[in-house]
Amino acid sequence: MKAAVKTANGRFEITEVERPVIPDAGWVLARVRVAGICGTDLRHWNKHEPELEHHIVGHELAGEVVEIGPGVTNVAPGDRVVIESVMGDGECEWCRVQQYNLCPNLYEVRTKCVSRAYGEFVTGPASKFYKLPGHVSFEEAALIDTFSVCLHAQHMSGLSINNKVAIIGAGPIGLGQLMLAKASGADVLITDVVDSALALAKELGADMILNT
Ligand SMILES: [Zn+2]
Repeated sequence: MKAAVKTANGRFEITEVERPVIPDAGWVLARVRVAGICGTDLRHWNKHEPELEHHIVGHELAGEVVEIGPGVTNVAPGDRVVIESVMGDGECEWCRVQQYNLCPNLYEVRTKCVSRAYGEFVTGPASKFYKLPGHVSFEEAALIDTFSVCLHAQHMSGLSINNKVAIIGAGPIGLGQLMLAKASGADVLITDVVDSALALAKELGADMILNT
């Protein structure tokens, strides 16, 4: 398969690599249809990071199921799916209470399978593959990783109807926060230093925009 592989100087090279195979009865193989570029990916751009050389990165992804192991029941070949790329070792104290985002082995585990969005195919345990409703596009699905961060923040904030909300920064997370706050009936002020980001915030329903 083809993949965008990191070079030693932090750029990408499209190259031929081995296609992953299903290693276990409960795993799924999917073809990546859309992969997002996260701010985290940009932080590694053009940087000399020898430890990432030859690695396939990218963790915001949606695709189509190609093949399933004999023990998989939640998805079938041909299904459109969003693929969760946060995955721990399943054994530590954090993984055992489903807080696998805190797993000390997170990076090592996820980058071996589900967190390889810039390759044509990925494989992972069936629990990381979620079937998409027909009205959700691959492009929208690739943003679920981002929006789930916003949703978690909103849940933690305790926001409710008629609250007043200030959002500092109108990047993808800030704009997601804005959309959720508006959907929850809040009045929203959002700030940024980029006029085009603020114009988009206005379009998405911000009550007040402010270039700081
Ligand atoms: Zn763990």
